[in-house]
Amino acid sequence: MPDLSLPDKAKVTNAARVSEANSRERPPSVDALARAIGDIDLPHAVLVDCARRSIEGGTDYEVVARRYAQDFEGALIGEVINATGVLLHTNLGRAPYAGVSGTRALSVEYDLAEGVRGSRHDAISEMLRLLTGAEAAIVVNNNAAAVLLVLAALAEGRSVAVSRGESVEIGGGFRIPEVMARSGARLVDVGTTNRTRLSDYSEAARELGDDLALVLKVHPSNFEVSGFIEDTSIRELTSVGVPVIADLGSGLLDNNAPWMPAATRPLPNWISDEPGAVQALNDGADVVMFSGDKLLGGPQCGIIAGRADLIERCARHPLMRAMRPGQHALVPLQRVLLSYLIRGVIEEVPFWGMVAVAVDELETRAASIIEAANVGEIRATHSVIGAGAAPGATLPSVAVVVPGDVSRQLRMRRPVPIVGRVAEGHTWLDLRTVHPDDDQGVAAALSDLVR
Ligand SMILES: *Cc1c(COP(=O)(O)O)cnc(C)c1O
Repeated sequence: MPDLSLPDKAKVTNAARVSEANSRERPPSVDALARAIGDIDLPHAVLVDCARRSIEGGTDYEVVARRYAQDFEGALIGEVINATGVLLHTNLGRAPYAGVSGTRALSVEYDLAEGVRGSRHDAISEMLRLLTGAEAAIVVNNNAAAVLLVLAALAEGRSVAVSRGESVEIGGGFRIPEVMARSGARLVDVGTTNRTRLSDYSEAARELGDDLALVLKVHPSNFEVSGFIEDTSIRELTSVGVPVIADLGSGLLDNNAPWMPAATRPLPNWISDEPGAVQALNDGADVVMFSGDKLLGGPQCGIIAGRADLIERCARHPLMRAMRPGQHALVPLQRVLLSYLIRGVIEEVPFWGMVAVAVDELETRAASIIEAANVGEIRATHSVIGAGAAPGATLPSVAVVVPGDVSRQLRMRRPVPIVGRVAEGHTWLDLRTVHPDDDQGVAAALSDLVR
């Protein structure tokens, strides 16, 4: 990894003077300008491109070239300290997790005993079977892909009944009617926006006969409806007579959360009321789909779990090849599932570590940071889950608040930027989303600000 440290401010100021003079004269050569900003630790080809674009722009050549280089550096994906208080921050990659490292090959789909090609799904399928009670499972690139694949594999050319209250947009342009159309299945709306009864589904089933392939339930994970509402449960839907498919979205494995320590019980509603995969399958869902990087706490992926014959049809569908996950997703997912199996979730899955940490521990950490940095004060705050999961739910938390808006300075800090939030004219660093290993780095950043 190259050192991507920024050019220091003094150099930029000197450069500004030089290039002011330059701009009145004729433009430098691309090569000379690229060499002039050669102190920036980026590949030469990038500096040449920045130089060329700056010369095309026509003024302040060196300052502008440096800004382009800085923009490129800012666009590189790198580690950041999430002090926003949003546990699953969509712009920060949702759930943090330990990635794949090292230079050795990986036995992604290799049978070591026989020395032949194996399956990349076997071990993960077995672990999901033990964790959720599903007969089998496969993994695709994200949950949007999971929904598309299930509909294409199980309902292409036929009808799928969906409640009008669940024909929703999840975010990022993922709309159930559009995904349905792309899958080749026909959406049949049943019920009304606020109330859908079992009889609405049964009537659709009578009218459609053999044409009805599935009933799809979509968990409205990113909004709440209240008031005069009625919903049909998975258990009731099993009487319709076709497979019941549930898009759970948020990926909570079990709403009893057996991995949560005794001190955190009774569990908050956002856990106990969330549909768990265990409960949905137990209630009779034939297939469930959910994200790997929401409440599961793993890498971006989509999990499809349920009846073995239906999973097999998904696995054999041609779209599966276009959606299959790589080692960068499978290895961390395997690690997360192993943590659930050994009940090491709080210690090993960063998302659940953030959920479980006690407020007084956050207060102690905040006090140490403030003492070390010699700036800031402790304030009570609320963290949120994020990623559209558990809308409206908040977790009590503690922030280090420093005067004024210093959010940009913190974001521009290297090697590890810090992302906080600005409220009431001050900068808030919510410690629930900061790993304790980063406390010292946060303190150092704050102390540098006051100096
Ligand atoms: C988040 C979500 C999706 C999309 O999942 P991705 O993993 O982001 O592709 C689909 N359906 C529901 C109900 C969701 O909550």
